[in-house]
Amino acid sequence: MLALELARFGVEFRCVDRLPEPSRYSRAVTVHARTLEMLDRINASLITRFMRRGVHSPGYVMHFVDGAGKRSEVRPGLDFTHLSSRYQMLLLHSQDETEAHLRDFLKEAYGRTAEWGVTCSQVVQEADGVLATLQHADGREEQVHCQYLVAADGGNSRIRQQLDWKKDGSDYAGTVLQNLDVFLHDFPDQHDWVHYCMGPGHFVMVVQLPGGYFRLLMSQPADKADAAEVPQKVFSDILAQHFDGIRMGDTVWHSRWGSRIHLAHSYRQGNVFLAGDAAHVHSTAGGQGMNCCMQDAYNLGWKLAYVLQGLAAPALLDTYESERKPIGSQVIAAASAIHELFMAGRSSDAAQLLALQASGKLQALVGQVSGLDYHYRSPDHNAAGLQAGDRMPDLQLLDGRLYELSRHTRFTLLLASPTVPDNKQRTMLKTLVQKYSHSLQLLELNAAPAQFLQDDAACLYLIRPDGYLALRTTASDATRLLQWCQANLRS
Ligand SMILES: Cc1cc2nc3c(=O)[nH]c(=O)nc-3n(C[C@H](O)[C@H](O)[C@H](O)COP(=O)(O)OP(=O)(O)OC[C@H]3O[C@@H](n4cnc5c(N)ncnc54)[C@H](O)[C@@H]3O)c2cc1C
Repeated sequence: MLALELARFGVEFRCVDRLPEPSRYSRAVTVHARTLEMLDRINASLITRFMRRGVHSPGYVMHFVDGAGKRSEVRPGLDFTHLSSRYQMLLLHSQDETEAHLRDFLKEAYGRTAEWGVTCSQVVQEADGVLATLQHADGREEQVHCQYLVAADGGNSRIRQQLDWKKDGSDYAGTVLQNLDVFLHDFPDQHDWVHYCMGPGHFVMVVQLPGGYFRLLMSQPADKADAAEVPQKVFSDILAQHFDGIRMGDTVWHSRWGSRIHLAHSYRQGNVFLAGDAAHVHSTAGGQGMNCCMQDAYNLGWKLAYVLQGLAAPALLDTYESERKPIGSQVIAAASAIHELFMAGRSSDAAQLLALQASGKLQALVGQVSGLDYHYRSPDHNAAGLQAGDRMPDLQLLDGRLYELSRHTRFTLLLASPTVPDNKQRTMLKTLVQKYSHSLQLLELNAAPAQFLQDDAACLYLIRPDGYLALRTTASDATRLLQWCQANLRS
């Protein structure tokens, strides 16, 4: 994802991975609405590949069984069909294919590929950059001087450990998780929903993936998880408590791991950044992990590009940590809340869940899990309406959707007018855009809905390359915009 962003912005980079070839395992199976919006903002053919291949899921059904074998359910349990987005769903799509789409697009659009079988074995901070040692598969050792290095090397990040980077961590009280990717015959329920199945001492998730097989995920307390048991039998026995007539077919993949939490104390040391699981790890509950990692890269990519290309001051890079670390912490909290509700082996039932639904707590979790409710607003900006740091929603403009029209690498300056823009305002903005032509593009929203105006007067929205608002002001107070550009952008 970061390689794609850097390529898009025209930055020179190398992307190395110690694996001899890309992973063929499904791993993360959910692509959430905010990630889909991000792919949509990047390129039409990229989002189309995901939407064509993935299963469009409306949400989760919660199935319960009690000690006497009595079944009950809450349908929907988590409902994604009311999200305030074009993508009112979660997309079921396996991570090997997610990575393949990104790799293919990177190659087709920019002729760039990752270097496989290359391990970064050592990193030394230098005054003006980083010295990285790379070990090639043929035994060759290479020293590379780079201005910045991003360690996106996974939960056990060697670079994080080597630089003695501090992190906070804990585990989910010894929860053991198992994945079984398997073909199921005669699954009797709706195939496009995520099914959470709970009963005394058990939790199993059932999800169908593109390719026709199912992802089964089981969470068990460590003292109940017997590594010697045949996984197919354990899963079959639990599923039989919830559904009738399922038969198991061929197994595609099985894995078992202990669930844990960590959050790095900082996301930056000198010219080295942490991104993805290297910075944050949490329960798989809600499927936010990969999405959060991709958003890290989306946040960091344009900032690196703007600083390296002299379009912004180096201080912009400090905002990566100040924006993404709080999100890492909120993602951990949301994943842990879902984990505690469903996966921690505590007995819960349909009545409890309905009460949570009625209180609005579940819908709040949906907003977070989808990624749409995470923002970079500063805590003292609590005024109503869109504020700096908020995600700019998609809008229909005269020539297309805002997300389509902002498929470029600049800031988008959107002038939202009650009717058509005042000519004086338009001329002033065009002059400004000319001055910052490498980093600004002007769009107009005529006859704007009331919520995009202020007291029925025109408003200016300065949208960052990653789709979050840098500034909102009234068109009559364009001085704020000028000051913002002078302080933050190089002409
Ligand atoms: C079984 C399973 C199920 C999951 N389910 C979900 C889900 O449903 N939804 C979700 O959002 N997330 C899920 N996740 C989490 C998701 O897979 C991770 O959050 C995501 O892969 C992290 O991406 P990353 O790029 O940060 O790290 P990784 O995917 O771990 O990639 C790190 C890469 O760095 C390479 N590397 C490591 N060290 C070096 C080195 N020294 N030099 C060079 N290369 C190196 C590795 O080979 C690897 O390819 C799941 C994970 C697992 C394991």
